Amino acid sequence: MNPRPLFFDLDHTLWDFETNSRLALRAGHEAVGLVDKGVTDVEAWIASYEKANDWCWAQFRAGLMDKATLRSERFKLAFEGLGLTPDKDTSRALGEHYIETSPYQTALFPDAIEVLETLKARGHRMVVLTNGFEEVQHIKVKNSGLEPFFSEVYTSDALGVKKPNPQAFELAATRSGLSMDAPIVMIGDSMESDVDGAQNVGWDAVHFNPHGPMESRAWRTVRTLHELLELPLGM
Ligand SMILES: [Mg+2]
Repeated sequence: MNPRPLFFDLDHTLWDFETNSRLALRAGHEAVGLVDKGVTDVEAWIASYEKANDWCWAQFRAGLMDKATLRSERFKLAFEGLGLTPDKDTSRALGEHYIETSPYQTALFPDAIEVLETLKARGHRMVVLTNGFEEVQHIKVKNSGLEPFFSEVYTSDALGVKKPNPQAFELAATRSGLSMDAPIVMIGDSMESDVDGAQNVGWDAVHFNPHGPMESRAWRTVRTLHELLELPLGM
């Protein structure tokens, strides 16, 4: 049996984005002194930020907001969501603190390291293909102990194109020295970016879906990373 090449998404698939983001937001709340700015409830602050962040990312994906604006605007909107008016310096300081802090958080999904160790021992070539900023995603991979398992880490920022655009998959495969008819399997949490994107270029895709409704169009679905070890990942 030939172990198939495995391409992994990073955020919300291996790296526990939600937990890590909340750890960074708590640290920022403290470091920037938000209690003095009227933000007394850290849980409400996190909820307001997450709502603002979702909105800003939708704007970014639609090409209506650039990276620099997104980074401070989401904090300005988080204040406004709580009925507060921040000064510009505070939003900027929070934006900078978050960018500097969040990639260094190290929470992974359960069993991530053990599962990657097993897959590596079985001989799988493993690559990260992630939509995200180059300088940020590499810090996450390095700091959380994922680096030894992956021969390459490709970000949409460096590729110049985001999943689910077919070019993202083609560029990542080609630069890894793999042809597009190699039996590559993509593993990720996003139906649109990871599963549909990969299956549209002829790869098989595993939907990592811990909590959501089951989608039938993925090649396979797993609720935990550990279930990957039971899949037919050899040809
Ligand atoms: Mg993801």
